[in-house]
This record gives sequence, C-alpha cells and structure tokens, in this order.
Amino acid sequence: MATKKELERCVTNAIKVVRHRVKQSRQAHPQVKHKIKDYPAIIVACSYRSSKKVFWGQSESPVNHIYEDRLRKRLEGLAPIGTKRPGCDNTIGSCAEPHAADLVLKKAPRCNLNKLQFSRAYRPRTAKHKRYCRNCKDTFHEVL
Ligand SMILES: [Zn+2]
Repeated sequence: MATKKELERCVTNAIKVVRHRVKQSRQAHPQVKHKIKDYPAIIVACSYRSSKKVFWGQSESPVNHIYEDRLRKRLEGLAPIGTKRPGCDNTIGSCAEPHAADLVLKKAPRCNLNKLQFSRAYRPRTAKHKRYCRNCKDTFHEVL
C-alpha cells in the first residue's frame, strides 16, 4: 500500500510539474496576460490500499468527462454532475478528488471506493493545502 508519505510525495511532485508547466506556457506566450486560472485550482493524489501506484488529479470541469461507473453513481447520488447543491460551493464532479479517484478506479476495476486513499489537497499556485469539500466528503464518505 502507499503510505501517507508516498501520497504526499506524489502530490508535492505534481505541484512542481504543474508550476513548471504554467511557467513554460507563460514564457512561450509572453504577450498573453497571466491569470490565476492558468493553474488548476486544486490537485490531490490518490491510491488504493493494495497498490503502491499513486495517481494525481486536478480540479476541472466534469462536462465531457465520463466517470467510472461506481464513482459516477456516487456523484449523481449528490446531484446531477455539473450542477451545484446546497451546502457546497463546488460543482459536482469538478473537484480534484473525483478526478484522481477516477484514474485509480479505471486502472484497478476491482478496487472498492472504501479502499481509496488520498493525500491532502493542495492549491498548486500557492502550495498551500485546502480542506476537502462537502461534496468530496460525501462522495468518499468511508475515507475522507
Ligand atoms: Zn471537493
């Protein structure tokens, strides 16, 4: 299994990758105004208990994204994907957590949602960690 440390290491590396990517893209297009939106809002690493493989995902629109079946059902249990519900500011399916978990579940179809492990979630622009939101806590209620 991936230890907490390995999950944190993955997300720390991912922060570097994201920051490097933004820097390169800004240098390649110096005439374009820099925006906060150049960065994904949040990234998080995810794994499952019987594997050492760690994946990271970033917050992005769930429109045109097809989630793994079990995860899709969980998300739709909150409200339709792409909409908001009372008690959470985030759009259902837009968070880094379901995007990262989706990568894990598609690679490991036998992994159950209650076997997922997450790193802390980070804002790559500032490298500060952020709390999991209500949608994510409800989606991954066994583990978050
Ligand atoms: Zn969330």
